[in-house]
Amino acid sequence: MTELSIVIVFDNKTLKSDLVPSWGFACVVRFAGKTILFDTGADGAILLDNMKKLNINPEDIEVVALSHAHWDHANGLGSFLELNSNVTVYLPQSFPQSYKESVMHSGAVAKEIHRAEELLSGMFTTGEMSGIIEEQALAFKTSRGTVVITGCAHPGIVEIVQAAKKITADSIYLALGGFHFPKPEVVSSFRKMGVQKAAPCHCSGDEAIDFFREAYGDDYIGIGVGKEITIG
Ligand SMILES: [Zn+2]
Ligand SMILES: [Zn+2]
Repeated sequence: MTELSIVIVFDNKTLKSDLVPSWGFACVVRFAGKTILFDTGADGAILLDNMKKLNINPEDIEVVALSHAHWDHANGLGSFLELNSNVTVYLPQSFPQSYKESVMHSGAVAKEIHRAEELLSGMFTTGEMSGIIEEQALAFKTSRGTVVITGCAHPGIVEIVQAAKKITADSIYLALGGFHFPKPEVVSSFRKMGVQKAAPCHCSGDEAIDFFREAYGDDYIGIGVGKEITIG
């Protein structure tokens, strides 16, 4: 049985020519019987079109989590809610009031995140972490270890991985998402933290993607729209 699956529905790159790449990030996570949309990309039309081509029905999504209030992660939500507002949206407390109100006006339930906590059984938020903007990341407990998914990692990818390790009290199996232009030393930090697999994308930068690919070899996972990762 699949414990966890991740499908990339919005990213700067695509792995399939019929899917549209665009600056931003979103993925659909299936975990413990729930379907979760993490971030929503910069453009709702592209988000929904990619989801359709990947056979993901927006109505199957029950939970949305937004990493931070930047346009390239939060702007796709409005179009999504027009199709399915029967969702709970977990968003950092620091989001603009106008954004929170538009979520509530759609009929969705908005839940504000501040501290690290368990949102669903086995699914955790790091809580709002400080960077140039407040940001949360999600951490999923699996039999292989913790899977951490980041938006832009403005608070720092190393700090986020450490927070995910702490809240799940487990080793890190996979870190995936935007790593925000890390320096090459990030690889040794990842090794020290015991991160088994690395999947940098979105705002990680081509240089970081190259040095992770080189250092991690078979444990590097190339990401683009259409990529699916399954565990279990
Ligand atoms: Zn950002
Ligand atoms: Zn971003």
